Formats: sequence, structure tokens, C-alpha cells
Amino acid sequence: MNALDAVLQKSFPSVMVPRNEAVPPLTVAGERLLIASNGIWLEVFRPWIRVVRCIARYDVRTAIPYGEVAESTELLCGAVPGEHVAAFYQIARAALPNEAGAWIVWNNHTREFRIVALPSLSHGPGHLVYERPILRDGESVMLDCHSHGSGASFFSRTDNDDDRHDVKLALVLGHCDRAPSVALRLCAKGIFEKHDGIPGTWQAALDAEVTA
Ligand SMILES: [Zn+2]
Repeated sequence: MNALDAVLQKSFPSVMVPRNEAVPPLTVAGERLLIASNGIWLEVFRPWIRVVRCIARYDVRTAIPYGEVAESTELLCGAVPGEHVAAFYQIARAALPNEAGAWIVWNNHTREFRIVALPSLSHGPGHLVYERPILRDGESVMLDCHSHGSGASFFSRTDNDDDRHDVKLALVLGHCDRAPSVALRLCAKGIFEKHDGIPGTWQAALDAEVTA
């Protein structure tokens, strides 16, 4: 095969799922397609998460002699401590009436989280353009936070465009001039899954910040 396609296919392979044994999971950061009897699945692995989701079903009931795959999510880094979410709320409040952004990154060498404020190149009440900080060795962006100033928290069309290629959790804080509203979702290569609310530890940390 030509060199260009060989590189592309190696970077994003397809696997014929066996019927009689499990597929060994991905262990290096990347993506691949799992071709199974119950559809085509996307497997995404990062040091902090593994996600398997169905992205296509067959139009024809033909016999596919492969095994089945099940949806799964493994959060390998554990829960983000509430203090980092509270720290982002402080950043968002200080930036009012403008929007603000921060990354909560996870280091798979030290297995620790830290918050990285995003220096904005241009920001206003309705938009945010920032310079992507350089991360330390072993770090990945795990929770991408931005605020909507004093506006409502939701994922806008711009957010959808920005998040389409990423693998992360995305958090929006709205109404930062009072008790903030929240929106949280998982982004995995174009898959968006909105969560109901946020983890209790995050909510408690935000509540403590508001009453402080
Ligand atoms: Zn937004």
C-alpha cells in the first residue's frame, strides 16, 4: 500500500472483533474501530479514560461472523477534586462580565490534577479565544472549563464546533455573578453525552464558594 494510507490506517485501525475471545483493549493513546456483529464501535483511549461507543448499525440483517461489543466507560484517573472546580469559579467570577477558561489537567506520571488558567487572546461577554498552554510531560486535558459570564450555562454551536475533535469532559459555568448554573458533558471524537448535573463534590465546593 502507498505510504500515506499505510500511516493513516496505522493511526486509526479497524479490528474484526473475535467471537470466542475478548479484544485486548487499547493501551496507547489513540482510537480505532471495532467491527462487531452488533455494529461498528469507536474505541477511544487516553491515559485517563477509555470509552467504547456504537457509532453505526447495519442497514441489512446479513450474517457477520464476528463477536459483539458492549458500550463502556472507564474513568482511569478517578474523580476531579471539587477544589479545582471551585478555583475555576473564582477565575470566572474575577473575569466578569467577560468569559473565562481553564483546563483541569491530569498527569499520568504523578497521578495528580492541576488547574491551568487559559490566557485569553480576545474575550468578551459572548466569546473567548485563548492561547493553548503547553502542558508538562504526562499531562492531558481532562476537564475543559469555560464560563458564560452572567449568561446561562449551555453548550453553544461554537462549543460544539470547538469540541468535536477532542476527548475530554467539558464544563460550562453560567450565572457567575450569583450561584452558578452548570452544564457538563463527555466529548469523545464527535460523541457528546450531556450529564445530568455535576458530581456532588463539585456542587458542594461551588456552594461553599458562593456562601464564602
Ligand atoms: Zn460556551
